[in-house]
Amino acid sequence: MFSLQSIQFQQEKQYSEVQAKIKKLKQKAPKNLDAEIHSLHEKYFEKIDCLECADCCKTLGPGVKDVDIARLAKYLKIRPVQLVEQYFKLDSDGDYIFRESPCPFLLPDNYCSVYEVRPIACREYPHTDRKKFEQIYKLTVKNAETCPIVYEVLVELSEKHHF
Ligand code: SF4
Ligand code: SF4
Repeated sequence: MFSLQSIQFQQEKQYSEVQAKIKKLKQKAPKNLDAEIHSLHEKYFEKIDCLECADCCKTLGPGVKDVDIARLAKYLKIRPVQLVEQYFKLDSDGDYIFRESPCPFLLPDNYCSVYEVRPIACREYPHTDRKKFEQIYKLTVKNAETCPIVYEVLVELSEKHHF
């Protein structure tokens, strides 16, 4: 396992440099990076423990859909309208986002208290295992500010392809 502190230090130190390199990704990288990125995704999820981090749950506001609200409300045995009133507000895109940050469902030990029914956006973050990576490369560069896994994936990718 990597030390999270050392990664965070590296992130602060090198982020702007990496960001500049990765911005060239669209022009320089091979078109189909999916297999390579998925393999790096596996590699760094093995090395970095999300339970030592939870930065996404502490700092980001996932967009939550109606289907997520319905699932959460059922799990928590409350009415959807009550759930929304208690935990959510609407953002400018019309998505629900948590009223508070860190996420109210994050426990002190970094476990998610609604893990089985967590929103789809939480399941999919940080998106390094999705198809057609080139469609989200800007988002991925942004996510490297928060997520040490994304950061390491991009660093290795940029080193390998000499960005
Ligand atoms: S920010 Fe990345 S490493 Fe940290 S908990 Fe979220 S997915 Fe895991
Ligand atoms: S619902 Fe769970 S996984 Fe999603 S942000 Fe909250 S604590 Fe994290």
